Amino acid sequence: MILFFSPIFKETLWGGSKLAKTFHYSTGNTTGECWGISAHSNGLTPVKNGLYFGKTLVDLWNNHRELFGNYPSTQFPILVKIIDAFDDLSIQVHPNDEQAKKVGALGKNECWYILDADPYTKIIIGHHAKTKGEFVEYIDHGDYHHLIQAFPISKGDSFYIEAGTLHAICKGTLLLEVQQSSDITYRFYDYDRIYHGEKRELHLREAMNTVKIPDELIKTELTSANFKVKIKDVDKSTTFKNSKYGTFFVCLEGQATIQNQDLKMGDFGFVSSDEQTFTVSENAKLAMITLY
Ligand code: ZN
Repeated sequence: MILFFSPIFKETLWGGSKLAKTFHYSTGNTTGECWGISAHSNGLTPVKNGLYFGKTLVDLWNNHRELFGNYPSTQFPILVKIIDAFDDLSIQVHPNDEQAKKVGALGKNECWYILDADPYTKIIIGHHAKTKGEFVEYIDHGDYHHLIQAFPISKGDSFYIEAGTLHAICKGTLLLEVQQSSDITYRFYDYDRIYHGEKRELHLREAMNTVKIPDELIKTELTSANFKVKIKDVDKSTTFKNSKYGTFFVCLEGQATIQNQDLKMGDFGFVSSDEQTFTVSENAKLAMITLY
């Protein structure tokens, strides 16, 4: 069975218009996030076709776990988004599972795949402090510029942001994010920006307790503790073996079919675990996400 999900959109201070322009969603000029596969309480994606039409992903997870090969977790593990940064996002860090457990949540490892980037667009991953003392010294001097590790990106790059890694998406980036199903963010630095007369709240203490030191290594493999992302260019009709827990997919480019159902750019869906294989017709670029 192929399930398609209706995405949920989030207006943000830093969002833009690329979600509407690129993927033809009915969104505006400040839409920062498109949540396409989500069982998180901050945005539940409903099924938009077939037998389970109108049910949310969390309904299916709780009541029809057989669709997911009876995956052994009470909590749905992932959250899949497309992010359009018209402005810089704050520099932030997320807790790992163990740290997040204290507040009853999952930690947040993230995988990023760059869908598009304006010329000279950068990304921030990691930092240059060798010790906690050095880290604090940079902050005391307000020298965020030399603390953070920033570098240019282009379309097709991929990054793995493990919990504890200082990071920020910068303006001009359009990316696919596959992360653990968590919404806990510790904001470390927001460029002293003023929004509606005030600065946004920072969570410096939590961030300091969470950040990895040292942390200069850039990881590019899109694999986390319990999920994996593969990017596939399908230029001729191809049959894929399904995972025992099913396969989530996002159509990133093109127009095709999946098991003879129409598939277009910006579609999010799932091949349930009862399908041994699934066939994608030519002319599509897909992200395929599997659990393990
Ligand atoms: Zn993040």
